[in-house]
Amino acid sequence: MGQRNSIAAGIRGDVRLKGGIKYRFDTIPWNLRCAPKPLAVVHPVDPEDVSVAVKLAAKYGIPIQARSGGHSFASYSLGGKDGALIIDLNKMNNVVVDQTTWKATIGGGARLGRVTKELYNQGKRTIAHGTCPQVGIGGHATVGGQGPLSRMYGLTLDHVLEVEVVLADGTITKASAEENPDLFFAIRGAGASFGVVTSFVFETHPAPTVTTHYSFKLHFSTPQELAAVFLKWQEFLSSPTVLNDRAFNSVINITNTVILIQGSRIGSKAELEASQVSIKMKQLFNVNIQARELDWLGSVINWVTETIQSMAGSLTIPLYMKSLSVRQDKLLTPEAITKWFEYMETHSPTGCDLEAGRISDIPTDATAYSIRDALYTVCAYAIAPLPFPDEALAFLNGMIDTVSTAMPDGNFGVYPGYVDPLIPQTQWPTQYWGTNYPRLLEIKKKYDPDNVFSNPQSVGADQMKPTPPAFGVVADASKEGLSMPVLGV
Ligand SMILES: Cc1cc2nc3c(=O)[nH]c(=O)nc-3n(C[C@H](O)[C@H](O)[C@H](O)COP(=O)(O)OP(=O)(O)OC[C@H]3O[C@@H](n4cnc5c(N)ncnc54)[C@H](O)[C@@H]3O)c2cc1C
Repeated sequence: MGQRNSIAAGIRGDVRLKGGIKYRFDTIPWNLRCAPKPLAVVHPVDPEDVSVAVKLAAKYGIPIQARSGGHSFASYSLGGKDGALIIDLNKMNNVVVDQTTWKATIGGGARLGRVTKELYNQGKRTIAHGTCPQVGIGGHATVGGQGPLSRMYGLTLDHVLEVEVVLADGTITKASAEENPDLFFAIRGAGASFGVVTSFVFETHPAPTVTTHYSFKLHFSTPQELAAVFLKWQEFLSSPTVLNDRAFNSVINITNTVILIQGSRIGSKAELEASQVSIKMKQLFNVNIQARELDWLGSVINWVTETIQSMAGSLTIPLYMKSLSVRQDKLLTPEAITKWFEYMETHSPTGCDLEAGRISDIPTDATAYSIRDALYTVCAYAIAPLPFPDEALAFLNGMIDTVSTAMPDGNFGVYPGYVDPLIPQTQWPTQYWGTNYPRLLEIKKKYDPDNVFSNPQSVGADQMKPTPPAFGVVADASKEGLSMPVLGV
């Protein structure tokens, strides 16, 4: 009817309306557990095309979400619930590095794999970003963007100097420290709620010439043994030796009875071996550390293959992901760690990434992204066939409840890049955006008063009538003897 025809009108790129075969392929989500049905998907060819689509949808009160790499854990780039208009930026994916300033202009639809390659090919440059090559820069640089170089250079969004953005009234505008600074603040951490970023200008850095990757394994047989190793790892991460070495990163992966500690350090193998972090790591864990040198592109590939999560980037899977950011001044207590692993029993599918460094230099109120003081983020997820079992949702929610109950003053954050549609509406605004949330609400009223750019957890969504979770339920917490297919990274 009228709405559908109007969406197709005047847009030069493809328009895929509900019911068509292309629409069906185009709306398969990365996370099959969350499969909302949008009204249509448009593939604009330039910012003017985006503007036409935004004006039309806004006129009919249709919610809009941009799509870049489509790797939202809750399919918010398909609207997060039925009936949205999706603006897929896949045709707007150019990467151009200025050979004098080394600033890179990147289209809102470029994926990280392309970003890595183009930055390197156009002057051996790089930016800090996550490890999954299929993730899009649009969703990454508007929520955070944490990766192996983040301790040295900050989040992906910390590299953004300027954005071109289409606003709710269809205006194509710029935002930077000088131009629309309030919008610039909001886009860097809560972009999906404010517009469609058609392109970014990033500062870039010389890509490291050599990086050394290290790893070692430890075995455990009881939750208490696991808790003891984890506590040691946490003490190690929070020591001045690690905090002061920004070239170093570390990830802990726990599966069944094995703990894999791995990561990398910018520089040669000899430099790693001579570093205080390496000496301390050997002393603490009493292990031989495997290490090998790689050049930059080899290093990026190695990071991808190191993490199950990143390898899964090219697959579509039914999944539920839970995360929790642990702050530097609220480290997990021995009691909380023990309770956590007792809850998980020997199935401890967990991964934690070291953060801090440059990320923490930037004041909390400088960008919408607020979890500047995190030391590491815990991630656990379940993969299961559809219909997705409520028990799996309850198990992972029970894990977070167990830790939060053991540490009621933990003030845990949730990285907005790991959106979790089951966080209660009373909690996600502060867990994602902390003390920046009231300011974001004010900026929302100015730039998008009719809430055109919305999903179930966008800025302002909590101020409306509460809606039940779109996907799944929080069933009874911990069920005894529960066993399920779970993978952790
Ligand atoms: C397998 C996998 C691995 C991951 N690894 C990491 C990692 O190593 N480090 C890390 O920090 N994060 C990681 N993430 C999380 C990832 O950064 C976020 O899910 C991110 O939002 C995905 O971006 P996208 O463009 O692919 O997603 P999309 O689903 O396209 O978008 C996600 C959200 O951003 C909005 N958005 C997208 N483009 C734009 C735009 N141009 N303008 C405004 N809003 C936009 C969408 O509307 C949606 O709300 C990973 C996720 C997955 C699934």
